[in-house]
Amino acid sequence: ENVSVEFTKERLMGLAGSETVHAVSDVSLDIYENDVVALVGESGCGKTTLGKTAIGVQRPTRGTVSYRGQDIWETKEESSGWFNRGGSDGEYSETDIRKALQIIHQDPGSALNSNYVVESILSDPLKRWNPDMSEADRRERIYGFLEYVGMAPAEDYAERYPHQLSGGEQQRIALIRALLMNPDLILGDEAISALDVSLRVEMMDLLLELQDQFNTSYLFISHNLANAKYLTQRAGGRIGIMYLGELVEIGTPEQIIHNPQHPYTKVLLWATSDVHNRGEGVTTPPVRSLDIPEATDPPSGCRFHTRCPEARETCRNTKPALKDHDGDSRRTACFRGEDQHEYWQSTPLEEESTVPQQ
Ligand code: SF4
Repeated sequence: ENVSVEFTKERLMGLAGSETVHAVSDVSLDIYENDVVALVGESGCGKTTLGKTAIGVQRPTRGTVSYRGQDIWETKEESSGWFNRGGSDGEYSETDIRKALQIIHQDPGSALNSNYVVESILSDPLKRWNPDMSEADRRERIYGFLEYVGMAPAEDYAERYPHQLSGGEQQRIALIRALLMNPDLILGDEAISALDVSLRVEMMDLLLELQDQFNTSYLFISHNLANAKYLTQRAGGRIGIMYLGELVEIGTPEQIIHNPQHPYTKVLLWATSDVHNRGEGVTTPPVRSLDIPEATDPPSGCRFHTRCPEARETCRNTKPALKDHDGDSRRTACFRGEDQHEYWQSTPLEEESTVPQQ
């Protein structure tokens, strides 16, 4: 709720001092049980930072991150380096929360320890978080998962090192490692981007099948609208569009893909559509400027106003709230979508387009 994440970084090019990176700015997002949300945007838009904040890996600079209504950072003790709740009645313990919020990384090859075989890699979190589980039960659970995801015979795969697995198999191991904890939410940070195109659909189908089976929610981070559509459409989920640290539009895949309202969503769609759908001879995106502002110095008002072809004076000065304009559950942060007299009465921004015209 109202989450912002800021980092301080040294200035480049030998300049003295530091500057603040506004990675995520005032974003609110609900993720429900058995939900699928895909966050889409260009690299550097803050989607990964927001995802990591949602699962408690990144502490927000401002705002609240809650798990089932409980502020997960509320009682963090600096000395423990993590949450430190007592687990008393009605409260979730540190262990509960860490088990409930899991992650699958983009590159399973580097996320899996190359010195250990699959069984050791998968045993590790179980030993850590379920220390009372017997070795026989652990093995049965691991073998069951391996076979479930098509890695049979399980005894054979259990003895392999990560480098003896294909990219798709490594990603399945990463998925099993997350699922072993019976999590409520899995963050998939570009979880299928490294896979060959032919394997992506297979992996997405497996993810959705497992979601159904285990009632897990997913928060997917992706720069690819087509993948986001595939994952959310089948699961009845939502796509959120991020630009320069802000959530600018969120809705069902039908709303976002077939009837986008925010001008930036239209740019993303343009970038992923084929030549036929873009229009004959159209080679430039629907923006006034190709320059993406720095996250260290985001524009005032609507952050997209420096590039938006629909921008008016009011957009430069006032930040549009993310809200439902049409009563259809989709929320958009843009003045155009509402009965905004101030917007329609203000003058279009005068700056000339810097995009070469065809
Ligand atoms: Fe464009 Fe204004 Fe809407 Fe921002 S608020 S996206 S600048 S029309």
